Amino acid sequence: MMKIAVLPGDGIGPEIVAQAAKVLEALRGDGLKIEMEYAHIGGAGYDAAQDPLPEATLKLAQASDAVLLGAVGGYQYDTLPRPMRPEQGLLRIRKGLGLFANLRPALVYPELVNASSLKPELVSGLDIMILRELTGDIYFGQPRGIRELPNGERQGFDTMHYSESEVRRVAHVGFGIAMKRNKKMCSVDKANVLDTSMFWREIVTEVAKEYPAVELSHMYVDNAAMQLVRAPKQFDVILTGNIFGDILSDEASMLTGSIGMLPSASLDADNKGLYEPCHGSAPDIAGKDIANPLATILSVAMMMRYTFAREDIAQRIEGAVRKVLQQGLRTGDIYESGMQKIGTAAMGDAVVAAL
Ligand code: NAD
Repeated sequence: MMKIAVLPGDGIGPEIVAQAAKVLEALRGDGLKIEMEYAHIGGAGYDAAQDPLPEATLKLAQASDAVLLGAVGGYQYDTLPRPMRPEQGLLRIRKGLGLFANLRPALVYPELVNASSLKPELVSGLDIMILRELTGDIYFGQPRGIRELPNGERQGFDTMHYSESEVRRVAHVGFGIAMKRNKKMCSVDKANVLDTSMFWREIVTEVAKEYPAVELSHMYVDNAAMQLVRAPKQFDVILTGNIFGDILSDEASMLTGSIGMLPSASLDADNKGLYEPCHGSAPDIAGKDIANPLATILSVAMMMRYTFAREDIAQRIEGAVRKVLQQGLRTGDIYESGMQKIGTAAMGDAVVAAL
């Protein structure tokens, strides 16, 4: 039994998740044992239970094998005190589930090569996986805050650190993924300046000995940022820490040019995971049946691959998405003249038909 917690969230979340649910239902119709249970998160959680991560939602997520999430956030919640804001629901569920490995593929479909702001020859055939450590680094390091120095001047400060076990476990995930891909991994750090990075590099190099088939390289983050727009196809898997990964994964996602096409996975030590599109709740287009549901549907493909080890089903879903693109069907965000523009629900139906 595949037990999936479904958390639509806010804005376009419910519309796009409904399309991914159609895909799951179609797979269930084919005999796959899938159980879906819905709960609130983000602004929807606040509206329902005055909490962006209601206790019942966290409990459901913890009792499930995988979580499918839409997106959170909306203008109406922007004035709430910080603990009540929708994004707190996201941060807390990641923490509550121990999700330390964030996977974001940057993949350019041949049909959408013109959506990239880079020249087609630079991105055509691009297929990178960025693995970002998600629960450590300067984002969580203590102490942090704003303090007064002896001379009376105020100072903001944060603390960057990585423990050996934190680096080791994410490195293992990275090498595992590289083994299933082109067996190349580039670890990105700032070891020329930061002690944390020097340590990161040392541990990754040590873990690499267990994966002799994988070719490991190291790159400084400033160079990596440059190489991603200069010659992105040199990369297969990029492994990096939380803050560098935050920035590089957004940069890499834009190589594809289409935010509505990008799925993501966040995994724990047992491959339990949370799957969500990379984009936000797009309140500007919510409720209009124009949002692109493909990132969410592709997140289901990642769920099948990483949590349920069903590469066959993952490829079937990805194949269906390719087929729909080949048929010339496009939502507004990826529309080009000569193609057929369709809405959110119609796109979901087209993918189900192509399955
Ligand atoms: P966004 O990703 O929601 O939207 C950016 C732009 O891309 C908008 O013009 C939007 O219409 C468009 N877009 C996004 N997804 C699309 C899709 N599937 N199909 C077509 N167009 C799409 O980012 P934002 O505008 O900066 O943030 C809006 C809200 O989302 C904020 O409240 C923010 O906090 C939240 N947010 C949530 C997440 C998340 O849930 N993981 C991530 C980022 C932002």
